[in-house]
Amino acid sequence: MFDAILIEKTEGASRAILTGLDEARLPAGDVTVRVAYSTLNYKDALAITGQAPVVRHFPMVPGIDFAGTVEHSDNPAYAAGDQVVLNGWGVGETHWGGLAGKARVKGDWLVPLQAPFTPRQAMAIGTAGYTAMLCVMALERHGVAPGQGEVLVTGAAGGVGSVAVALLAKLGHQVVAMTGRPEEAPFLRALGAAEVIDRAGYAEPGKPLARERWAGAVDVVGGQVLANICAAMRYRGTVAACGLAGGMALPATVAPFILRGVTLAGVDSVMCPREDRLDAWRRLARDLDIARLEALSTEIPLSGAIGAAERLLAGRVRGRIVIPLDPGAP
Ligand code: NDP
Repeated sequence: MFDAILIEKTEGASRAILTGLDEARLPAGDVTVRVAYSTLNYKDALAITGQAPVVRHFPMVPGIDFAGTVEHSDNPAYAAGDQVVLNGWGVGETHWGGLAGKARVKGDWLVPLQAPFTPRQAMAIGTAGYTAMLCVMALERHGVAPGQGEVLVTGAAGGVGSVAVALLAKLGHQVVAMTGRPEEAPFLRALGAAEVIDRAGYAEPGKPLARERWAGAVDVVGGQVLANICAAMRYRGTVAACGLAGGMALPATVAPFILRGVTLAGVDSVMCPREDRLDAWRRLARDLDIARLEALSTEIPLSGAIGAAERLLAGRVRGRIVIPLDPGAP
């Protein structure tokens, strides 16, 4: 038996509980992993609270990511004892996920734990941090380089945002952090932000074209904020858009794209091809300051995950949450 969060659906409503599960109940897969750490991402919070239809069938163990040790493998790429990481692929949505002591998955979904990270550090990064790296790589692909001008990060005090600030600052960018929590300014400056601005300035409908300011941007918010960012991009600037914390809509005009050559680069972590994942994890090992990673993560027990999900969706969680599943793991 091992501890798990399980989401059940009764009388049309979903409900998350902390429970014990038997290994025999794990879904089909060719690799069984003893989970060392998981984490709480935005999507996990949506699944646990039932605020969006993330879970595709019930009962479901949530948790879109985990790090742990292979216990049993029928996949030639992995053997018992290997340390592995999983991000996405529908795990925690269509296939039982990481908020449990064990997981059984397709070996093709796993990547080896990237040195020098411990399982705990890999989950302090988690899917949020790996997505932040994919966003940085998207900016680079479109020619955004240090020295070209200010790079904006939205939702900066959250998971994706805080890792993006730390990464971009270490790479030498002049990072401006946008937040709805001005009280987090010291935290954001400690991560490397040169300036912290209030989201309120971007929340109202603006002009199709605003004063050119941003050479690049990482946006987790979407909605009106993203539309206003597009309008304020510098000539040929790029916005990497990965989130919808502020809304799914995009009330923008084509003006920034056709008059300033702005690029809106979409970033998806879930179905991201394996080679790009491996690249992102290698880049995280090179470009993320481990001391800053420690500063932006908080550990909570599995029993706290359900309550933390509410706080995360209310925008009250700072940085990243890690959840230990195996008391002996590093
Ligand atoms: P967090 O909850 O950790 O952070 C989200 C941040 O967004 C909050 O901290 C807050 O920033 C800001 N925010 C929250 N609510 C609102 C709101 N109503 N309006 C504007 N801003 C708001 O989540 P994550 O960082 O883990 O994820 C952020 C987004 O990225 C989510 O939408 C998530 O679904 C998406 N995502 C997408 C992925 C992909 O593959 N495309 C992968 C991972 C995440 P602050 O406190 O600074 O104001």
